[in-house]
Order: sequence, then structure tokens, then C-alpha cells
Amino acid sequence: MPIALPPRSIVDTHTHTHFSDGVGTFEQNAEAARAAGARVIVSTDHLTLPRIMDPEGEVQVTTDELAAHRAAWEAARDAHPDLEYLYGFECDWYEGCEDNIVRWSAGAQVRLGSVHWLGPQDGGAWIDDTSDRHIWEELGADEVWRRYCETWCAACSCPLFDIMAHPDLAMRFANDGFAPTIDLAPLWDEMVACARDTGKRVELSTAGWRKGVGDYYPAEGLLERFFQAGVPISVGSDGHVPGDICDGIAAAYDHAARIGYRTVEVPRADGSWEAMPIA
Ligand SMILES: [Zn+2]
Ligand SMILES: [Zn+2]
Repeated sequence: MPIALPPRSIVDTHTHTHFSDGVGTFEQNAEAARAAGARVIVSTDHLTLPRIMDPEGEVQVTTDELAAHRAAWEAARDAHPDLEYLYGFECDWYEGCEDNIVRWSAGAQVRLGSVHWLGPQDGGAWIDDTSDRHIWEELGADEVWRRYCETWCAACSCPLFDIMAHPDLAMRFANDGFAPTIDLAPLWDEMVACARDTGKRVELSTAGWRKGVGDYYPAEGLLERFFQAGVPISVGSDGHVPGDICDGIAAAYDHAARIGYRTVEVPRADGSWEAMPIA
């Protein structure tokens, strides 16, 4: 086991580079992380996707880029021995994704599981993309939420994922005219039961604040339920530009501690997971 991290060390388990839909290089992200005082960060570019989801390869690390992606991460990791820089991917869940994920994310130390995309039977759309707003207009926020929750529970059952990222991403446009009108509590309870029963970690993401959601992902009521069910959390910024790497992590520790959490889970370079005290 590695030496335990000091309590409340800055750790960011969700970061992107220009290889997927981010802006910074691995090197720039590592420098930003060190400037923020981070001890551990995880690179989690969007994994390779089927053509139907991203025909132009705008979001993902394409198969052609995977080797260069890995090499660029290794160079940045080796240049920063004072930072544990882990290699991971943010993996979209879709029907039949498992074999693709195993193949394309070979060598990953961390896999985030995400639901951004609802399948063809649900309109085949990215729920967090402003250019796919039509799904919100056609289905309405309540129905998007129901389908999101069903898809999320399927994703949560995938044993390949270490952490379920931004669990209530369907809040993305709640302050832009697409707030659910139904009581979300029954859907939240389904999600919590899925996470508990599959032994998953969930992410406390600071990105909601930068996206105008006015809360973390997950919202406070959902985070409280995860806590009451004993579901562990990790904390990530989902930074897509170097300036957002580690954004709001210390405040997220305070928030989680207020809810009742005493530790957050941190992946370490040797493959272990550490429960780091935050309170
Ligand atoms: Zn995401
Ligand atoms: Zn992300």
C-alpha cells in the first residue's frame, strides 16, 4: 500500500484533455493540478465511441489516437513525480458497450461510468448537449428524467465502472426551462438502491456550479440519500480547461462533510483505493 494521503488532500478524479472534448494537454493539466496543490488527479477523457453516437469523433479519443493519448499521459506523469497522475477514461454506457469498453480502455486505472446519451429508442440524443435540446422539447423534462434514471441504473450494473460520474446529469438544463415537475424522490431512490446493491461509488462533481445548475451533481437531496445508504463518494471537477482542474474540490469536501461523509475514496497509482478523511 502507498503512504496514506494527508486528510483533505486535493484530489480530482475527473479531468479532460484536448484528446477528447477538453482543451488542455496532459502537461498543462498536470501543471494546473500542482498549482492547485493536488496530490492525485485522474485523466478521464471520453473513451472511443460507436459511430452512431459521435460520427465526427468530436467528443472521444478515437481508436487512431489511443496510442498517442497513452504516450502523452506517460510523459506528463513522468515529468511530475510529485503528482500521482492516473490514467483513466470516462466511459459512456450504451446497450452492448461492455466488449468495446474492455478493448478500448485497456490499461486504464480508473473507469468512470456515465450516462450522457439516451439510446435510439429514446431519440438517440446527448442530454447535456445544447445542440441536442430537441430531445428535451419532444419528450419533456419529466420523461427525459424517467428514461435517464432507467439507463443510469443499467449503467450502474456494469461491473467495469469504478465510479458513476455526475449521477443526476439530467439536471443540466433545469434552470434553462427544462426542470422536472414530477417528484424526483422515487427515481432518486431507484438510483440509490442500484448504487448500493452494486457496490458502486458515485461522484460528487463540482461541474454543476460552472454549468448553471446551482448545485453539485448530485443535488443535495440525492447526495443525502446516497450517504444514508452507505454509498461512498469520490470528488471530481470534470474540468475541460486547465483553469477548471481541481475547481471547488475543497468546498466539495466541506459540503460532503455537512451531509455526513467522513471520507472520500481516492484511487492510488498502485491500483488500491484509499478512504481519505475529509472531516
Ligand atoms: Zn460526463
Ligand atoms: Zn467528463
